[in-house]
Amino acid sequence: MTRRRIAFAGFQHETNTFAPSHAGLAEFEVADSWPGLLQGQKVVDGSRGMNLPIAGAVRAAEEAGNVEVIPILWCAAEPSGPVTDEAFDQISGTILAGLKAAGPLDAVYLDLHGAMVTDSYDDGEAELLSRIRKMTGPDMVIGVSLDFHANLSHQLVDLATVITINRTNPHLDMGETGARCLVEVLRTLDGCSRTVAFQQAPFLVPLHALNTGAEPCKSLYQAVADIPASSTEYIELAMGFTAADVPDCGPSVVAYAETRNRAEEMLQALFQQLIESEAAFDTSLLSADEAVRSAMSMTGSGPVVLADVQDNPGAGASSDTTGLLRALAGAGAHKAILGIMCDAEICAKAHEFGVGGDFHGGLGGRSGIVGDQPFKGHFKVRALSDGRIPYTGEMYAGSIAEIGPSCLLAIENEGREILVVVSSERTQCLDRALFTHFGVDPYECEIVCVKSIIHFRADFEPGSLAVLNVSAPGLFPCELKGQNYQKLRRGLRILPIS
Ligand SMILES: [Zn+2]
Repeated sequence: MTRRRIAFAGFQHETNTFAPSHAGLAEFEVADSWPGLLQGQKVVDGSRGMNLPIAGAVRAAEEAGNVEVIPILWCAAEPSGPVTDEAFDQISGTILAGLKAAGPLDAVYLDLHGAMVTDSYDDGEAELLSRIRKMTGPDMVIGVSLDFHANLSHQLVDLATVITINRTNPHLDMGETGARCLVEVLRTLDGCSRTVAFQQAPFLVPLHALNTGAEPCKSLYQAVADIPASSTEYIELAMGFTAADVPDCGPSVVAYAETRNRAEEMLQALFQQLIESEAAFDTSLLSADEAVRSAMSMTGSGPVVLADVQDNPGAGASSDTTGLLRALAGAGAHKAILGIMCDAEICAKAHEFGVGGDFHGGLGGRSGIVGDQPFKGHFKVRALSDGRIPYTGEMYAGSIAEIGPSCLLAIENEGREILVVVSSERTQCLDRALFTHFGVDPYECEIVCVKSIIHFRADFEPGSLAVLNVSAPGLFPCELKGQNYQKLRRGLRILPIS
């Protein structure tokens, strides 16, 4: 068996260009739900066993038995506004230096997101690839795995030898996607020569309508999976990230086959199915008041889950808007819990007063969104934590949430009670551990509010009475129609079509 020398690197960011924040070097260095910046052998050791593309790719390389794994760097920052030039140049520079220092290579594997925007580049991934290509030349085999929400460009497709993309949302197959990429890299090195076909869809789909457990995504991804893994041809579908205001925003299809005609034929079959699905995406949203009223009127077993989709930090929002909390309090909701409100000041206060203490204060509401203010109230401290919380759900199993000093607060009103988990660092509420860690079983609540889009479904939807998507204030727009897009390519439609 020919021995293959393959370099492994990762640089992930999902950029919400509507968010005022930036991702600097510090944001990539710190651990959040994923490890902090890893270099050298730590890339392998620090990601092993996690549902991460690079972990899957390394596992596939080890299983192949003929790969010398050369780990260089891996990092990711919590989604936010653009990546700073300084962070992009420094991290890209370290990857390039690592590739150079590695000596002769057979291939490069890259774990990227596909929706990175930097201060200077609308397509961060294509810029990284073009810098790497400049150094390695056109013949180096470069495999790239991307996220389900990638905004794929012609440039990136041309620069990569092979691309694989997550096929589930919630993203339960991130590790598998990395492994699949490594398999395609090895096939290419073994002489499998392929051409690529690529096309972008003429419409944008709001993220809350992209549940692969429901139609039309379910059938679309079934069609993607119907091509056997043993085949040398394959197809991938990205659904895009709508908060990146860039020309290449939106869904796209990429197909690889031995001939141009076959790649084109495969692409057109899936592309037509995607086009015909346009009207089937469920883009409905309820106002916070409607959602709370509806939840309080439902009867049956299990909690009603209200997804505060526009304030999802996992899509770059501030995770501190108060619209849904106000609706709960205004309606006199009982046995309700909300997570996660990010407010470091309130956490510090709760730690000062201790468990059993109580205080007046203003919670959240500092995003700068017009009309969203801190929620003023009287809070009882029910639990405190240093904020290192091992995930227990499938999506992030094996990882630890680093939410900083944190607390569980109770807001009481005439025998009725609303609980709020408050963190010092923004963290998407996609795992029940983020509640159970504070001693609350969400299944014993009547209403569970999560600042998350789709990803919460893996751990919260089974056993729930209903899931409702809520349109409360937030920095991640799900109602796309009124959004101030400036850079989208001409003719791109925005769902829902009215
Ligand atoms: Zn994603």
